[in-house]
Amino acid sequence: MEEFEKTLSRQQAAIEAERCLYCYDAPCQVKCPAHVPVPEFIQSIRSGNLHGARTILQSAHPFIETCGRICPEEAFCQSVCTRSKIDAPLRIRELHRFVTDSTDPSDRMELPEPSLGKVAIVGGGPAGLACARELRVRGFSCDVFEARQVGGVPSQEVSTHRYPREVEDREVRFLTSSFVANVRSERVTDVKPLVGDYDAVFVATGLPSESDLNVEGIGLVGVYHARDLLRKMKSGTISGAGNRVGIIGGGNVAIEVASMLREEDPTRDVTVVYRRGIKELKAFKKEIEEATTLGVTYQFLAIPDKVVGNDHVEGLEVTQAHLCGEDESGRCRFEPLPGSSFIIPLDTVVVAIGQRIDEDVFPGLVRSASGFISAAENMQTSMPGVYAGGDAVHGAQTVVEAVRDGKKAAEQIAAFVAGGK
Ligand SMILES: Cc1cc2nc3c(=O)[nH]c(=O)nc-3n(C[C@H](O)[C@H](O)[C@H](O)COP(=O)(O)OP(=O)(O)OC[C@H]3O[C@@H](n4cnc5c(N)ncnc54)[C@H](O)[C@@H]3O)c2cc1C
Ligand code: SF4
Repeated sequence: MEEFEKTLSRQQAAIEAERCLYCYDAPCQVKCPAHVPVPEFIQSIRSGNLHGARTILQSAHPFIETCGRICPEEAFCQSVCTRSKIDAPLRIRELHRFVTDSTDPSDRMELPEPSLGKVAIVGGGPAGLACARELRVRGFSCDVFEARQVGGVPSQEVSTHRYPREVEDREVRFLTSSFVANVRSERVTDVKPLVGDYDAVFVATGLPSESDLNVEGIGLVGVYHARDLLRKMKSGTISGAGNRVGIIGGGNVAIEVASMLREEDPTRDVTVVYRRGIKELKAFKKEIEEATTLGVTYQFLAIPDKVVGNDHVEGLEVTQAHLCGEDESGRCRFEPLPGSSFIIPLDTVVVAIGQRIDEDVFPGLVRSASGFISAAENMQTSMPGVYAGGDAVHGAQTVVEAVRDGKKAAEQIAAFVAGGK
């Protein structure tokens, strides 16, 4: 499948690198959760040393190829670029991508003997693999326990339009072959047995389950969970969705599944049904633009009341909403307009209203009020020697934030094991 965005040409990258002001306080580097040394790698591009640029990026960030494509830079490095006070912010993520597309990840790092201890990592997504790499570099040996596919959500669910299979394969293969002792294809439900077998455990299982919508008709044939469909399509299986699809939700998952359903069948009508307005959509701006370019349409200010049909979905009954102020968290509130119900004719309804941790896992680990795993500032859970990070602790975030957690957990685990010994 063809990618939406093309990599910068050598000439474009050189011109873009020339625009960097090399600020002494590097706000971009501070704002990047992985603290990528942005001015340094841009200086390396400027001097034509792409190999050096890759080494700088790679030492700060294990998922540079992934983030070169799907990092929401407008929320991080680019949002604070000093150059925007003059004309426009530097295209930092695209420069990132230019470096990784122009160089080879096969450079092996010099690794010490893995003699400091053994760590079990539960979940092979960005947080888990980032932790494995940092620990291996420090002299630990890591086993990764993975229920589905190593690489986590980007590998399992993000469209190949944004994140091509060959890029994902290259990066995940490099990380697992260089830094992981064993990948165990296993769903872990209890960490207590691992505590006995390993010096420490890092739980980074993300949010594998989905929230349910509690309305009449939700059990009809033709109602799907969004991430089940994403995983199916990403693995090359036909989704089974019909020709008139309504997607309930306004976050990244809703927009991702809308785009993938259009990519799968460009003749299919795909409408995102959202309770608030366009400005309140929570998905990343670039993803919304891409979905719109693919022909996804939107029904804003529509509150789902009922899935209509006998055995199969025939439509979605919604009530029109209006926006009215903000709640305590600053989120825009909405209210139904009485007597404004109408039916959107559909043959498929996809629910994309939130993600959560599996309920049947990890007895003994204290959870927060929202159901996430509770971890202290040093990332330790309620069980000594068991650390946790990524989406499983913070709720839905981003790849680069999961990487930050993996790096920080490795530091804390190394200190714990050293102290314990
Ligand atoms: C559809 C979608 C699109 C997204 N798009 C973007 C984007 O464009 N840019 C961006 O930065 N972020 C994006 N995100 C968010 C990003 O993917 C996550 O924040 C990030 O992957 C979290 O990393 P993690 O390692 O915490 O968890 P995950 O990536 O969820 O990895 C957790 C891993 O643990 C495994 N696992 C789960 N339970 C168990 C168990 N019991 N035992 C063993 N293994 C288990 C899972 O199979 C998975 O491989 C998107 C998320 C979704 C859902
Ligand atoms: S990882 Fe993301 S935030 Fe960090 S420098 Fe790269 S694009 Fe910017």
